[in-house]
Amino acid sequence: MSDNNLSGTKVNLLGLSQKALSEYFITLGEKPFRAQQVLKWIHAEGVTDFAQMTNLSKSLRAKLAELCVVQAPEVISQHNASDGTRKWLFKVAGGGAIETVYIPEPKRATLCISSQVGCALNCSFCHTAQQGFQKNLTSSEIIGQLWYAVKQLREEGIFKAIDRPITNVVMMGMGEPLLNFDNVVMAMDLMLDDLAYGLSKRRVTLSTSGVVPAIDKLREVIDVALAVSLHAPNDTLRTELVPINKKYPIVELLAACKRYLRDDTRRRITMEYVMLEGVNDQPQHAHELIKILKDVPSKVNLIPFNPFNGTKYQRSSNEAILRFQSILMNAGIVTLTRKTRGDDIDAACGQLAGQVNDKTQRSAKFKQQLAKTISLEVLPS
Ligand code: SAH
Repeated sequence: MSDNNLSGTKVNLLGLSQKALSEYFITLGEKPFRAQQVLKWIHAEGVTDFAQMTNLSKSLRAKLAELCVVQAPEVISQHNASDGTRKWLFKVAGGGAIETVYIPEPKRATLCISSQVGCALNCSFCHTAQQGFQKNLTSSEIIGQLWYAVKQLREEGIFKAIDRPITNVVMMGMGEPLLNFDNVVMAMDLMLDDLAYGLSKRRVTLSTSGVVPAIDKLREVIDVALAVSLHAPNDTLRTELVPINKKYPIVELLAACKRYLRDDTRRRITMEYVMLEGVNDQPQHAHELIKILKDVPSKVNLIPFNPFNGTKYQRSSNEAILRFQSILMNAGIVTLTRKTRGDDIDAACGQLAGQVNDKTQRSAKFKQQLAKTISLEVLPS
């Protein structure tokens, strides 16, 4: 049992996969099938109170209440965008906050989940990067975002055209999921588990900036869809936009993508490509991209850049995006342009930063003002 899933002195069962929960129940001297029953209560029924788990014996219920909790991160706020997109801000252990975005569409509903507080990778066009890295989320904090969203949406009964509140999950919120590997995999196990959320493995997508060794490791332990933040067709430009490219350049990244697909000809890697005006959106970039993707089974997802305060970049014009898209399509590459959703509540790709960031900025400003009159050293950090 990792410290990750300890809440105070009690074990938080929310973040344990079926396997981990069974192992834990064995240490309690219980039969593994009890773990399956508890898993169903927690994830399929949204129950946190052991007393309500009526198919368990009274003594087991009492034992669990003494040793364990089922605890999701606490919601700080909810924002609703005019297009139906919602953003929840959750408080996480040890300070800090994360954001989760719900994106409803006529035939599906996607939840965009965070994996870290802040991010260490410093991509130059991403708002989360400005916050720096603060911490890895526990598996309870990761799956807790889905647990909460499903429970909340069910209570509101607002999903009509689809049979479940969330049909797709994308690990595209704050953080680099492959740098919080074990906790992300444990949470994704629960997403796929029929006793928990039963999502299709093609509808759970992990997005990475390109941590090559972790892509190989992922392939060994779980089968989910992979998206890669490519954003540039050559190393010079990509290193400028996605600095981890210096360590794992494009050839190595694309080779890892091919390995990830094994030889399954029906599968594709999604290449994400943010459209930055005058930076990576010119026809020459599209032609370079065609060349490097020639033998990588992939589709391209163009993301119109979402601006934030203080950024030096601008969103490409619609004409530039259409031109870029048609060059790729003419070369036979399936290319979609991602619709910008929820930008009126700063919930669009790359805009997630958490309230804590704002507070940090406010407190930095406050300190600057104070520093004009007194020495900075006396201020608490
Ligand atoms: N760290 C992971 C997942 C988080 S970002 C990754 O890099 O893939 C999810 C997607 O949003 C990535 O493709 C990211 O590059 C993109 N993104 C980041 N900032 C953006 C912005 N300001 N506008 C549009 N897309 C952005």
